[in-house]
Amino acid sequence: MNLAQNLDQAIKRIEQARIAYSRHHIVKIVAVSKYSSSDAIQTLYECGQRAFGENRVQDLAQKSELLGDLPLEWHFIGTLQSNKINALLSLKPALMHSLHSLELAKELHKRLESRNQTLPALLQINSAKEESKSGVEPQKAVETYHKILEEFPQIKLQGVMTIGAHVEDRAIIQKSFETTQVIFEQLKPHGAEILSMGMSGDFELAIACGSNLVRLGSTLFKA
Ligand SMILES: *Cc1c(COP(=O)(O)O)cnc(C)c1O
Repeated sequence: MNLAQNLDQAIKRIEQARIAYSRHHIVKIVAVSKYSSSDAIQTLYECGQRAFGENRVQDLAQKSELLGDLPLEWHFIGTLQSNKINALLSLKPALMHSLHSLELAKELHKRLESRNQTLPALLQINSAKEESKSGVEPQKAVETYHKILEEFPQIKLQGVMTIGAHVEDRAIIQKSFETTQVIFEQLKPHGAEILSMGMSGDFELAIACGSNLVRLGSTLFKA
């Protein structure tokens, strides 16, 4: 595995995509390490990568503990089960990308209040309206975002996240990103700053639709 080369390649491609979008546009990389060892994470850290993402609370706990000496920034990107909420909050993630419903926000807020803690989070949008995916429906996203801002102040909403449509047709993937971009633009005056979209297979398209945070797994950790 040549992780340094993979990271360089990804940075080059991101650089082209972001300059084509706007010279003033900055894109952050979260390296999704869910299929990778802590050794691989350490190697990427030595190449300069700081932010890493995991989709299971248990893995996040294990890897962040193993690598506790490094100044890493941990992101939670997976579907959170209610019985894992306390475990996640104890880990104090830098950002939770996957706040997918008002119900979960309510449950999180209850625990946050009793722990006297806050949680930076993104509202996940099911932009392709896929049954298999979590997230709020695009039509309800703005309203839900405002409700969370008003009713659950211990949740520090910073923007939105989406997973592009799971299809081959680029036009359909683009549509799902554009849907999310429109929502993000509506929320910007209310403090939204992060538009988390784009994975290994579609990050350039996501950046062309305004993404400023890409979640890259396989393209960074590939052999
Ligand atoms: C696994 C995962 C990624 C990374 O996927 P790759 O295609 O390997 O880059 C990004 N976001 C989420 C939510 C994931 O679960």
